[in-house]
Amino acid sequence: MSAATLLRDVFGFDAFRPGQAEIVEAVAEGRNTLAIMPTGGGKSLCYQLPALMREGVTVVISPLIALMRDQVRGLREAGVEAGALTSGDTDEERDAVWQSLEDGRLKLLYMAPERLASGAAQHMLRRIGVSLIAVDEAHCVSQWGHDFRPDYLRIGDLRRELGVPLAAFTATADAETRDEIVAKLFAGETPEMFLRGFDRPNIHLAFAVKDQPRRQILAFAAARKGQSGIVYCGTRAKTESLAGALREAGHAACHYHGGMEADDRREVERRFQQEDGLIVVATVAFGMGIDKPDIRWVAHADLPKSIEAYYQEIGRAGRDGAAAETLTLFGPEDIRYRRQQIDEGLAPPERKQADHGRLNALLGLAEALECRRTTLLSYFGESVETCGGCDLCDSPPEVFDATTPVRMALSAALRTGENFGAGHLIDIVMGNETEKVRQRGHDSLPTFGVGTEYSKGEWQAVFRQMMGLDLMRPDPERHGALRMTEKARPILRGEQEVRLRRDTIRVAKAERQVKT
Ligand code: ADP
Ligand code: ZN
Repeated sequence: MSAATLLRDVFGFDAFRPGQAEIVEAVAEGRNTLAIMPTGGGKSLCYQLPALMREGVTVVISPLIALMRDQVRGLREAGVEAGALTSGDTDEERDAVWQSLEDGRLKLLYMAPERLASGAAQHMLRRIGVSLIAVDEAHCVSQWGHDFRPDYLRIGDLRRELGVPLAAFTATADAETRDEIVAKLFAGETPEMFLRGFDRPNIHLAFAVKDQPRRQILAFAAARKGQSGIVYCGTRAKTESLAGALREAGHAACHYHGGMEADDRREVERRFQQEDGLIVVATVAFGMGIDKPDIRWVAHADLPKSIEAYYQEIGRAGRDGAAAETLTLFGPEDIRYRRQQIDEGLAPPERKQADHGRLNALLGLAEALECRRTTLLSYFGESVETCGGCDLCDSPPEVFDATTPVRMALSAALRTGENFGAGHLIDIVMGNETEKVRQRGHDSLPTFGVGTEYSKGEWQAVFRQMMGLDLMRPDPERHGALRMTEKARPILRGEQEVRLRRDTIRVAKAERQVKT
C-alpha cells in the first residue's frame, strides 16, 4: 500500500505534517536517516508508517516506557501488530511478544535500550528478520547531554551486526549532538539529514472572511495575472464553475478533481507543469506528486479540513524560495460543513474528537488575533523569531472586549435549550418578532432584544468567531442547533473575558449601510 493510503486508512490522517512525507519516503526506501523535528512534530509516524511498508520487523528503541506502551496500544487499536519488550514486563507479556515474533506477525517491536544488553534479546534480533532500526530520542546517545543513556551506545553495534538501515529521531538540533549521533549510531557514515524547520518564510499567509467568495478569488487572481496558481475548492462542481469564471476574466485556467477521467487529469498535470501562468482550480485530489517549483500562489475558496491539510496545501507554493502568496477564505458555512463531515464519518469517537481538534486549530488560526506564522508554527511545536509576512503583521487587527455580546449569545442558546441555530438566536437577541419567535414564546425571554446595538451581519460575525473559538458547536443530530462547549462555561460564569476582532464586525456594518 502507498504511504498516502496507509496514512489515511491506518493512522486516520488526511495529510502529512511538515517534513513527514520526505522522511517517510527515505526511511521506507531503507536509507540511513537522521531527522530532527520539534517535539510534537509527529516523529513517531515517520518510522511507524515505513515499518508497514517494509518486509519484516522494525525495532524501535525508545527510552520512555510509558510512551512505548501508549504507542503499542495505539497501533494495536489501528490493527497493526506491535509489541514491546521492557524491563517492567510480566512473563506472560514477554511470552506473547516472543510468540508473535516467532509467528512472523509482528511489524513493530519496541525495546527499551537496556534490553539490548541481554544476550537472549540480541540473539533473538539476529534471528527474526529485522528490516529497520528506529531510534527515538537519539540524543540519548550523547555523553554530554543530560539525557545520556549508556545502553544507547550498544545501538551502533547492533546496526552493524544486523546490517540493516537505521533511522534516528530527535528534537535536539545543536551541531555537537548531531555530530555525536552520527559518530555513535552510524559509525561516522553520514546519514541523510532532515533538519528543515517548518517555517516557509517566503510564503505570505492571509485569511479572509467569505463575503462574496467568487469575487474575492477573482480579485486575488487578477492581482497575480500570468502567475501559476492553485485554487482549492471544497466541491467538484465548484472547481468547474470557478475555472469558468476565471477564464471569462481572461485567465488561463482549468479544473481538476477526482471524478475526471485519468487521461484528462494527467493532461491538466502536464499543462500545469509545462505552461507558465496556468491556474488550476481543484479539489484536494490535486497535489500529491505535483512538483512545480514556481507556483506563485495558492488560494482556498473553501476552508481546508485541518491545520495539517492547510499547511500542506499552501506549502505547494514557492518551493523555489521566491515570494509566494496565499489566501484562505472561510465562513460559518465552512465550519458547519467541516464539523458535519467529521461527525458523519465512520471514524471511531476518539478519532472524531481528534479531527475536531485539528479543525479547531485551523479555526483558531483563521480567527487569530496576532501573527499567523507564530500561531501556525507553535501548533507544530516550533517558534519563530520573525514573521516573513502575514496579513495580521501587515495590519494588526483591532480587537475589542466582546464578553457582553458573547454572553448574550450563549445565554440565548442556553435559555432555548440549545435547540436552535444562529439565525433564530440572532432574532432573539436582536428582538425580532418573527413568527418562530412568537410561536415559541421566545419574545418573553430575558435575553429577547438585549442586543439591538448590533446589526444582523455583526451578530453573524460574533457567532462565527465564537464557533471559530470553539465556544459553540453545531449539533449534528439536530440540524445544526448550537450547543455550548466546555470552553464557554467560564465566560458565562463571568470568570473569563473574550476578545473578538472588530474588523470583521465592521465589515458587516459597512455592508448593512450599503444595503439600506
Ligand atoms: P513527537 O514524537 O514528534 O513529539 P508524535 O509522534 O507524538 O510527536 O506526534 C504528535 C501528535 O501529532 C500526535 O498526537 C499525532 O497523532 C499527531 N500527528 C502526527 N502526524 C500527524 C499528521 N500527519 N496529521 C495529523 N496529526 C498528526
Ligand atoms: Zn506575521
